[in-house]
Amino acid sequence: MINHSKNILLVYPRIPKNTYWSFSYSLKFIGKKSSMPPSGLITVAAMLPKHHRIKLIDMNVEELQDEHLQWADAVFTSSMIIQKDSLEEVIARANKFNVPVVAGGPYPTQYYDQIKGVSHFVLGEAESGVLDAFLSDFETGKAKKAYARVSIRRRPVEKKIDEQELEKLVTFFGKDADIKVAETRPSMSASPIPKYDLLDMKKYGSMAVQMSRGCPGICDFCTIPSLLGHEPRVKTADRMVEEFEAIYNLGYRGALFVVDDNFIGSIKKAKDVLPKIQEFQKQHNFPFSLYTEASLNLARDPELMKMMRDAGFNMVFVGIESTDEKVLKAMNKHPNLRRNIMEDVRTIQHHGMEVTAGIIIGNDNDPEDICDKIFDFCQKAGIPKAMVGLLTAIRGSEMYERLKQNGRLIGDGDGDNTHNFQLNFRPLPGKDENKIIKGYENLLARLYDKKGKNYFERCKVLLDNIEPNPKSTRRIRLTELRAFGMSIWMQSYRSSYRSFLVEAALNHADLLPEAVALAIMGRHFRKITHNALKAHSINHYIQERYESFRAQADEAWQTKKAESIEWYNNLVEEKDAFLRRARKKISKLPVDYRPRLLRNYERIALSLNSMI
Ligand code: SF4
Repeated sequence: MINHSKNILLVYPRIPKNTYWSFSYSLKFIGKKSSMPPSGLITVAAMLPKHHRIKLIDMNVEELQDEHLQWADAVFTSSMIIQKDSLEEVIARANKFNVPVVAGGPYPTQYYDQIKGVSHFVLGEAESGVLDAFLSDFETGKAKKAYARVSIRRRPVEKKIDEQELEKLVTFFGKDADIKVAETRPSMSASPIPKYDLLDMKKYGSMAVQMSRGCPGICDFCTIPSLLGHEPRVKTADRMVEEFEAIYNLGYRGALFVVDDNFIGSIKKAKDVLPKIQEFQKQHNFPFSLYTEASLNLARDPELMKMMRDAGFNMVFVGIESTDEKVLKAMNKHPNLRRNIMEDVRTIQHHGMEVTAGIIIGNDNDPEDICDKIFDFCQKAGIPKAMVGLLTAIRGSEMYERLKQNGRLIGDGDGDNTHNFQLNFRPLPGKDENKIIKGYENLLARLYDKKGKNYFERCKVLLDNIEPNPKSTRRIRLTELRAFGMSIWMQSYRSSYRSFLVEAALNHADLLPEAVALAIMGRHFRKITHNALKAHSINHYIQERYESFRAQADEAWQTKKAESIEWYNNLVEEKDAFLRRARKKISKLPVDYRPRLLRNYERIALSLNSMI
């Protein structure tokens, strides 16, 4: 008889701490381990039949132990491209114990052909029917290698991408797969309330509730439309409140991310949901400070902004991408076209919401002085947390396909779009990659200068612009007091910090908790920036010295200099000293910055040792 009941271990791989998005340095201040819970996996947990036994290990808050793997009949993982290295480690460890790995999430969905050691791929949205199809085969011991439901979009350029993807999938997995074309994407009502009770909420800086999937936008660098489609599928107001209640009843209070690729993908649906959220917040004395992601057209709708403010939203991440109209046009960033972007940011701030901006450098149409323009813009607009990244072509995006067709694509990105000092495509003729990278480095160094001067300037502008919103202002709880104490202890030696806090206390007393939170965040952004710049400069040093050794060796062989034993021994000594020095430099970096450099170091050491 087949035993249908299984021990299922849900594993969320580590997200590297070396990106802005990790918020690692600020989490220490509030005694948290991770900024965000694994929403996808706890949703999958809620979809599993009751007869299975479930355990969740989020490697961002606890270690994955061998005993966990020994207990498991299967390991289910969900991952994004940024978790690639950690996912590989999970797969290798599960393989060692002969535990089958089931991989899902955006990274396996787009890069399944690059992931080894996985027993079953469950690709795309779990609610599309793939998870149920897999589970029924799995329980009877007949699971196939892959399960996918592919939706074909209508716009000709996107239709072509999706049809190619379908063909690739079918060819790659052959007969050992259950792949079908889906007419529609699953409704959000098919998605159950995630099993929030699996989380140790004390360990997270924020909770998250997914409200919608999909975005009508057609930005050419973005993969959301290929993964989740154009039609915004939105949960009902009642359902949102149920999830808020579930989190509230588990005792959580504080920041809550309303997860949307674009909160206002459907303005009408957002307006349907907001009154109920407001009611919930009011009834419970505003337990959650809400934040989300939205496109810039938010600034055109005063009613919507007011509704968001009244529901307790205090921050919104906006894809500003560029301040240059030509660049925005080329990337199809329609909500930002023909707008006074600075004014739009101010309008949102006037409605009580801080604007955090996504900005991209390295676009084909970037003018020479783009980095200066972006710097001035962020300073004047009062955007403290400017997430500036280098353009990366990601599979599934229109840009990726275009560059591939034009022969400009060099490789796949690694998901770290804020600190990868390398383009994964060839710039247009006449554009110099080194110059682009140098400009990007300088921009980061200026935005997050070591003394924090520019950062605190932006914070001051923000406090002057933002309309205090009593509904979303941070509550002073034990966590906030601890953070404030630590902040004073660790940051008060900086004059820019002291003058910022004094000014906030004198002129914006009602925003003082926000000012402290901004100061703590600033330390995170500075630390990440300067560690990343240091790692990049070490990498550059290793590469330069390697080229110089190669040139010396080449010249020596041609001129017969290498026949001199003394000369040769000196070169060997020099090379060994360089390799020791380089390794020492790498070892001094924080641990998350080392793997990429070590990979390059090992490649170079191998090459040099075989050459000299
Ligand atoms: S608006 Fe945002 S989510 Fe939508 S396509 Fe553009 S970048 Fe992607």
